[in-house]
Amino acid sequence: MSPRAGLLQSQGSAKQAVVRPARNPVCRAVNRSGAGVLRQAAPAGRSVVSRPDRPTEAPRLPLLQPVCYKEGEAESNGEQTENRVIVITSGKGGVGKTTASANLGMSIARLGYKVALVDADIGLRNLDLLLGLENRVLYTAIDILDGECRLDQALIRDKRWKNLSLLSISRNRQRYNITRKHMEQLVESIQSLGYQFVLIDCPAGIDVGFINAISPAKEALIVTTPEITSIRDADRVAGLLEANNIYNTKLLVNRVRPDMIQKNDMMSVRDVQEMLGIPLLGAIPEDQQVIISTNRGEPLVLQKKLSLSGIAFENAARRLIGKQDYFIDLNTPYKGVFQKLGEMFTSS
Ligand code: ADP
Ligand code: MG
Repeated sequence: MSPRAGLLQSQGSAKQAVVRPARNPVCRAVNRSGAGVLRQAAPAGRSVVSRPDRPTEAPRLPLLQPVCYKEGEAESNGEQTENRVIVITSGKGGVGKTTASANLGMSIARLGYKVALVDADIGLRNLDLLLGLENRVLYTAIDILDGECRLDQALIRDKRWKNLSLLSISRNRQRYNITRKHMEQLVESIQSLGYQFVLIDCPAGIDVGFINAISPAKEALIVTTPEITSIRDADRVAGLLEANNIYNTKLLVNRVRPDMIQKNDMMSVRDVQEMLGIPLLGAIPEDQQVIISTNRGEPLVLQKKLSLSGIAFENAARRLIGKQDYFIDLNTPYKGVFQKLGEMFTSS
């Protein structure tokens, strides 16, 4: 049984979840109480889903040391780099899905790929705001389905990077009538226009909006913060993704506070990753620049002088396309590798 299944089930594997090494008091508290909450949440025998493909051991996390290898190696080990449909999801709201969608999408576009961002957050869309495209959303996917416009009219091209486009599923007060089939057809049509990456920004929750958003996806990126509430929701979502045949899942840990980790007031990225047992794509620090960039409608990765979070998003994007070169050490961001990286990016 996998470590994650152990976290969710109330029988048999309980020991496995509890004996997991705790490196700090916060994590210990989680193992005592939080993991218990997780297990209680899924009654005996009703893990969210049986997970046949789950690795038997959480992948080891090379986070604390930078891993350097040549790009060629990374590509040959790595992911297919086109026709990828990735849903960015979390369960819990407000953990950074839209921020991640905007920054990863922009980063991948800057790396030369044709990227479509789909804002599937019906009723509460805001990806257009983060990209500074809000005044250009004239049509949405619902207008396409109603026959009022063509797909290319609803796909808004970013003026800064023309290989990045945004499709909003609905305007905030538009009536809701999207189905899974509609989502699948929309994504297929987007791909037929030559888009190599389709990133779907998923709404919070696990209701019909979530099911619609994940239905065209072959892969998922689960965003969580290092808080037990967010981790529990991420765990639940991972199970639901597998129940819907999405097994290629990666983890993005957002709003990491290295100062709090050092004081043992926050779980480390490694703790979070081990609790969830999902391969890590990246970790993003808590950074006020995120708020500034949201208000400006300019993704962090476009800033001339990259902030720490901007560098972390660039790093995650490179890993997502298989050009993985290193993990950033957020536990000591102002010393060593992270600082050197910052200098390297900002001095150019
Ligand atoms: P979601 O799409 O999951 O609801 P958002 O991306 O809209 O989450 O982010 C929620 C709020 O958190 C926003 O106000 C955003 O600016 C803020 N936020 C997200 N990530 C960070 C971060 N790394 N540092 C600081 N603030 C962040
Ligand atoms: Mg959002």
